[in-house]
Formats: sequence, structure tokens, C-alpha cells
Amino acid sequence: MALTAQSVWDNCLLFIKDNIQPQAYKTWFEPIVAVKLADKALSIQVPSKFFYEWLEEHYVKILKVALTKELGATAKLVYIIRMENTYGNKQPFTEKIPSSNRSAVKSQAIDVSFKNKSPELKNPFVIPGIRNVKIESQLNPNYNFDNFLEGDSNRLARNAGLAVSAKPGGTSFNPLLIFGGVGLGKTHLAHAIGVDIKDKYPEKTVLYISAEKFQQQYVESVRKNNRNDFIHFYQLIDVLIIDDVQFLSGKAGTQDVFFHIFNHLHQNGKQVILTSDKAPVDMQDIEQRLLSRFKWGLSAELQTPDFETRIAILKNKLYRDGVEMEEDIINYIAKHIKSNIRELEGAIISLIAQSSFNRKEVTIELARQIVEKFVKNTKREVSIDYIQKIVSDYFQMDVDTLQSKTRKRHIVQARQLAMFFAKKFTKASLASIGSQIGKRDHATVLHACKTVDNLSTTDKQFRKYVEDLTKKLSV
Ligand code: ADP
Ligand code: MG
Repeated sequence: MALTAQSVWDNCLLFIKDNIQPQAYKTWFEPIVAVKLADKALSIQVPSKFFYEWLEEHYVKILKVALTKELGATAKLVYIIRMENTYGNKQPFTEKIPSSNRSAVKSQAIDVSFKNKSPELKNPFVIPGIRNVKIESQLNPNYNFDNFLEGDSNRLARNAGLAVSAKPGGTSFNPLLIFGGVGLGKTHLAHAIGVDIKDKYPEKTVLYISAEKFQQQYVESVRKNNRNDFIHFYQLIDVLIIDDVQFLSGKAGTQDVFFHIFNHLHQNGKQVILTSDKAPVDMQDIEQRLLSRFKWGLSAELQTPDFETRIAILKNKLYRDGVEMEEDIINYIAKHIKSNIRELEGAIISLIAQSSFNRKEVTIELARQIVEKFVKNTKREVSIDYIQKIVSDYFQMDVDTLQSKTRKRHIVQARQLAMFFAKKFTKASLASIGSQIGKRDHATVLHACKTVDNLSTTDKQFRKYVEDLTKKLSV
């Protein structure tokens, strides 16, 4: 039987449906229409550009597997995007739209051949010795400075990034360490710096790599007995960007090799940019000599964005997607999703998706439902205030006593427990925990955590405290 676009796509859908969450399937795959099959290229129509980007970012692997199963290794996928300028009109967009209709519908085909998509740097270190090799920078051009909005929460980091990209290796921000919580823009900013450098200095070799991948490559090089090639390769780089270095904690071999690469690059005036989900003082199981290198340059924190910045980020995102949305809805989302920009974007994407597939108007009610899902799904982090309250209640003292300077043993213990739980249950840094629990420094907090650890293995009564409090704080 001859293959048709429909039959091929139906089979792909069967496979995809089996492998992803039902809700995700419903949201991202049901609305797709298979339109054409030419040779080994299947064209699918998607409702908008953000939809296409979302598929590319999250589902390209499964699409590839499914399509390769159906059409073989040379399978290609072509997206056809129908873009609408206005939003929330009830015109069904799968039909021809009369020319009198104001909403302009464009059709844009994007040809994504899997083969050419972001070439993997599988084994980069096979090429040393060859001059003028081109090393793929692995940068994502969609993460640039233009769409990295500035606010109080990121001003220092963003400007340091700009300074570095103006003069890579030529500022005192070397290394530049960007740190901050999940979804606050570390990866985006790291790419933006690289992209800007590539733009200004096309001849420079820039490489972006996650610490995880770096570690895998290293392990592979040891296995294959070409550790020196690995080191040599990295020493050729002018601007090395390593994302999520906290991943290296406890991995002594990789830290050691990175130490040597770092020293070489630094001595030769090359730029190193690192990101981490923790401040250097809070990084555990990273060798001291490496930590001290991290502190040579500048550590810049990305903090949670304030309300204005959240609004600006949302508006910018909507603008780029060509979507209009009422002010009070944008405000509603920005007000309720505070601690993670990725979630902020996720909520708006869901909102657009929901309304476009169900042809519903974007209403406050719809926004409320979606925000609720986001807020529910993300485990609420207990606050340090809450921890102090629970601990002082448990020991029948008030919070002021817990925070006081007294050396009375039972109060000291309560305070140490509060610090221990703050470290365990929040993402706050040691320094920030210390300043919130009676204005102590980070060393005191670290000491408290160790003491609690020790006592709970040696002292039965103390272990009971820890267990009771853990229960209270986990519900
Ligand atoms: P992290 O690496 O810190 O977990 P990401 O860099 O992946 O965070 O950012 C999460 C999302 O938030 C990305 O889609 C990114 O584009 C967006 N984002 C973060 N900060 C900003 C900003 N200042 N302006 C615009 N978008 C931002
Ligand atoms: Mg990241």
C-alpha cells in the first residue's frame, strides 16, 4: 500500500502517544496536521511559530525516532507554520480566510533535516594538531542579549557579560561565574555572551558545553586512552563556556583535568565563563584549588526578577511571538509566578496553546486555571521564616529567642536545627541563611549543619528532634 502523509503521520502518532504524557500529547500533537509527503520528507502544519519552537526544543528527538522508523534514516521533517498576527479571534485557521479578514495569515515552511540539526560535537578531541579546524561553538543564537531583558535582578551579571563580550579575556572578569537558582537565565546569559563574541570576533574559537557533557567526554577520553588529546583540544579554545559547573562536584578526575585546562587558558589570556546553581562558598565537593580559581574573577548572581522585570519579560515574549494579550492577564501571571522565568514563559505558552486549540478567548479565568497548574506542580519551597517558626514552636520558645545571641545550649541547638533545615529545604545560600537566622555568617551556618549531622548520628534524643521536625516541615 502506498504511503501517504496521513498514514505515515498516524503511525508516528501511535508511537509518540505511547511515549509521552497524555496531556502533552493532547496539547502538542493533536493539533498538528500532516499535509504532504514528498520522497522522504513529511510536511506537517503547526499553528504558530512558538508551537514549532516548542516542538523543536522538547520533542525533536521523539519526532526523529518516530519518523525514522516510518521512513528510514533519510527521513526529513518540514514544518509549515501558519502565523496569525492578531490573537484570540475565532476564525478557524485551518480554513481559507477571506481577504477582508484583518488577521494576516502567513505560511512559512521551515525545513528541518535531522542530519543538519545542531551538529553534535561527539568526539571533539580527535582533531588536535590540525590547524584552522573549525570548532562548532554549540551556541544557540536564540539566546542573545537583545532578548535577555535587564532588571535589578540581573543588572550586574548582564553588564559583566557585556563587558566580557566586548573584550574577551581582557577584563578582570575572568573567569566570569554566573550563579543563581533554576530558571533564572544562567544558560541564556552564557549563550548570549558567546553569541555576542562570535558576532564581534568571528575569528575567535568559542565553545559552549555543559559540565555534564564535558565530564562524559573526559571519561570517554580516559577509556580510550586519549586524555591528552582531550586536554589539548580544550586548550585551543579562546572562549570556553561551561554550564552548570556544580555538576562537577564530587567528580575529582574531571575537576583535576578542568583545573589544568583552566590554568592554561587563563595564563594565555583566554576567557572562561562558568555558570552554577550555587555561589562558590556553597559549592560542596569541589576542590579548594578550583574554587579559589572560580573566585579570581567575578561571581555575579542572577536573582529572582521583580514584578516589573517579569512583566517586561512576558511582554517581550508575547511581542516576539506576535501575540497580543490584555494587560490585566499579563499582570495576573506576573503576579503569581515569581521565582522562575522558565515557569513564567511556560505559563504563557500554555495559555496561548490552550486558547488557540480550544479556540477560547484568553480570559482571566483561563489564566487563573493555568497559573494554578503551574503553581501546584512546582513544589512550594518552605521559607526560612516558616522553618524558624516551626522550630521555635517545637522547642516552645519564640523566634526572637531562637535568633538571640545567647549561648544557652538548648537555644543554640534550636538555632542550629533551624539553620540545618534551612539548608536542607530551601535553595538559600549559607550566607543568606545566616543573615536571616540571627545575623550569623556563612561559616556559622556551615558549622551548624555539620554539628546537626554529627549529633543526629551520635545522640538518640537529638535524632528524634531531627525526625520530628522533618515530619513537620515536610507536610
Ligand atoms: P537557567 O539556566 O538559570 O536554569 P535559563 O537560562 O534556561 O535558566 O532560562 C530559563 C528561561 O527564562 C529561558 O527561556 C530564558 O530565555 C528565559 N529568561 C531568563 N532570563 C531572562 C531575561 N532576563 N529576559 C528574557 N528571558 C529570560
Ligand atoms: Mg541552565
